[in-house]
Amino acid sequence: MKKEIKLSIPKFKERPSCPVCFSKNYDIRFNKKIKKKYLDLLQKIYKYKNSNKNVALFKESNIIICYCKNCSLKFHKLVPNSNTLKFIYTSLIDSETSKRKNLRNEPLKFKKSFLLLKRLRSTLKGNFDKKLNHLDFGCGWGTMLKASKYLNFNCIGIEQSKDQVENMKLFDIRVYSSIKILNEKEGCPKIDIITLNQVLEHVTNPNIILKDLRQLINEHGILYISVPPYINNSQITADEIFVKGPLQPFEHLNCFSRNSMENLAKNSGWILLGPRICNKNIISIFRKYNFIKIILLIIHSLIKKGTYYMLPLR
Ligand SMILES: [Zn+2]
Repeated sequence: MKKEIKLSIPKFKERPSCPVCFSKNYDIRFNKKIKKKYLDLLQKIYKYKNSNKNVALFKESNIIICYCKNCSLKFHKLVPNSNTLKFIYTSLIDSETSKRKNLRNEPLKFKKSFLLLKRLRSTLKGNFDKKLNHLDFGCGWGTMLKASKYLNFNCIGIEQSKDQVENMKLFDIRVYSSIKILNEKEGCPKIDIITLNQVLEHVTNPNIILKDLRQLINEHGILYISVPPYINNSQITADEIFVKGPLQPFEHLNCFSRNSMENLAKNSGWILLGPRICNKNIISIFRKYNFIKIILLIIHSLIKKGTYYMLPLR
């Protein structure tokens, strides 16, 4: 990274309202500067050569965690600006370490992805002579897409990291850096299954992503979302923040409750599968999907914390 960019790091911008429901009615639950003891905790998250030096740049940065009284989202009020984000995802997180870790865990992740995609496919009605279109948004090192290809889906990835896009070329899987480029290259395809695995907690504005994905989804399609589990405690301590977890600084900007996920779905044209589905939607679900499989997904999302399913029924 160029020296002048590094000098301007870290810089943060303030989110004026809840990034899910836009309410300004929120409490501040944690507000402290990164002092030596928090820096020591952060340095345990990033372990590679020179990581201490990169983490130390964040000394004296403010960490402010808010709780939205309207939708119960917990969120970082200060989010990294674009240069700082670039630094976080290209220098603070070491690409080789991340790739090695992924390779170690890949057999288990592949199996889980394969079962998930089969589960999602089983909810869809229709004639599957044509290949199903699957989009994995934020595909990372591509394990989900490899499972998708194995199932003979027409699979596409979206990923911002150049290293990860290059890596997918080795497997002959199309990966684009944004939805805009996907639409330019493939003429706005309609997608049957979208997966969003550990992505929404990282983004400054989750509404924009869900609205864009709503434009892409086939009217009989399904969206799977996985995020870290919600921190339910009313008080948030430094021990919960400065560790690998749902609110770890600089990376995990949003911590979703079921209520906040419901608000997010509503604002962006989706319905969240859960116990509060209204009668009108039950009829549409019955018409468009395999009803029993959808009920099983609802049960799954209630048991498995941080797992959500959405349908484009509005
Ligand atoms: Zn909110």
